[in-house]
Amino acid sequence: MKMRKVTYVSLESDEGMHASYEAALSDLESRLGHRHPLFIGGKQFTTTREFAVRSPVDQEVITGHFQQAGEEEAKAAVEVAKDAYPAWSRTDPAERVAAMRATAKVLDREVYSLAALITMEAGKTRSEAVAEVGEAVDMIRYHCDLYERADGFVVPMRPETPGATNRSVMRPHGVWAVISPFNFPLDLAAGMASAALLTGNTVVLKPASKTPLSGIRLYEAFVEGGVPDGAVNLLTGPGHPFGEVVTAHPAVDGIAFTGSREVGMWLMRTFLARQAYPKPVVAEMGSKNPCIVTGTADLEKAVEGVTRAAFGYGGQKCSATSRVYVQREVAEEFAGMLIRRAGECAVGDPRERGAFMGPLISARAKQTFEEAVARCRQDGGRVLAGGMTLEEGALARGFYVQPTVVAGLPESHPLMKHELFVPFLCVQPVASLDEAIHLSNETGYGLTAGIFAEDPGEVRSFFDGIRFGVCYANRRGGATTGAWPGVQPFGGWKASGSMGKGVGGPYYLLSFLREQAQSSRN
Ligand code: GLU
Repeated sequence: MKMRKVTYVSLESDEGMHASYEAALSDLESRLGHRHPLFIGGKQFTTTREFAVRSPVDQEVITGHFQQAGEEEAKAAVEVAKDAYPAWSRTDPAERVAAMRATAKVLDREVYSLAALITMEAGKTRSEAVAEVGEAVDMIRYHCDLYERADGFVVPMRPETPGATNRSVMRPHGVWAVISPFNFPLDLAAGMASAALLTGNTVVLKPASKTPLSGIRLYEAFVEGGVPDGAVNLLTGPGHPFGEVVTAHPAVDGIAFTGSREVGMWLMRTFLARQAYPKPVVAEMGSKNPCIVTGTADLEKAVEGVTRAAFGYGGQKCSATSRVYVQREVAEEFAGMLIRRAGECAVGDPRERGAFMGPLISARAKQTFEEAVARCRQDGGRVLAGGMTLEEGALARGFYVQPTVVAGLPESHPLMKHELFVPFLCVQPVASLDEAIHLSNETGYGLTAGIFAEDPGEVRSFFDGIRFGVCYANRRGGATTGAWPGVQPFGGWKASGSMGKGVGGPYYLLSFLREQAQSSRN
């Protein structure tokens, strides 16, 4: 299988990448602020309701003006997708693969301009943004490789009588609503939408309202790649009217969602309640991810891995580390090293080459951070590093905060339990690996978990005992983050969702298909 090289670790020293990114960024900055339509059945629509999106990097920069799709537009898009379904689902699978490969090629060609856009829309640093585009490209290509290898998911079955032909065939469901989040505005939309389209479903895509332009660029790549009018549609706007329509509309056959637990659970319950029969929901819904550091850990590796996973992209990843359980004998040394390392993280304008962490996505996220720090202090916790918002000079025009390490909160404290999506890391000393595994599992969530331990027996006990979907040992580049398509299937257990089949993994496409037994006799 051909895979693109995972290059994001080496980006920091790649001069060609810096020059290309900077050229793309200045080109993009001169073109921001335009008005963008909705795309239904290959046609562009405007509404009387528009919204402006401001960049989290600098609130004075308007990334664009977008249409607020309401009920009427959402219904129209679903109906168009329904009409496009018979033809697209019967298209030769090889043609659908060709369209997806061509889409990946478009994204690959545009890697720097898309990365610049992700910086301006989502606030990612250049290496995180370039990595995201690479991930989207690999995600689509991996799904294509899988689909080709599965040969249309046709499995010959036993003929019960001579001359009988029996087979199992996986078939698409129909129309999928795809709802994607702000934090991986290209990659997660590409993962869900490509899986649906490749397997013969049609799609109405609604990107997060903070990052609609990345969604539009993906839509345009699908169209340029050869996905026919109506098979893919794109609506921008707030979540509410869209969610109301797609959960109730009888022509919607499935929902693919990445975002908060609250919204994901609402979609599942409401979809089930409003439809005439059960229909699939593929949901990926956040977490409260632990990392364990044992007495045998290489502490330098552990500190680096935890720092990157807790503070990379400001902790705004479902995979971010937010709890560390460190064995008592190394707890003090580990905490000292972590405090130093957190203090070295350069927070600032993500357009700048040296920035490690850019802004949070919104004023509300900044407020969540401030409230968490205040609550921690008030309830007897200690802030070991960070804790401040940054408002000097141009930083006042974005939502910049410090990477923050806290300790001393009781295990049952809400800050230890709830996903915050900000760079706020709780460190707890523990007596043993067993206690660390037990506390790690004491959560409703189950997405990613990490361990640093040089003893292979400890690593084995961790894998055996931990109840999370994506588990890593000794990962310096990110204790719990950075799953790559075709390398680590990314899907959570329990409240983290995904129904046990991770995106970028061998079983993901099956979530968008249903089995038909075809049995014939002559
Ligand atoms: N795939 C990303 C990672 O492994 C996280 C995606 C998410 O936050 O939903 O870090």
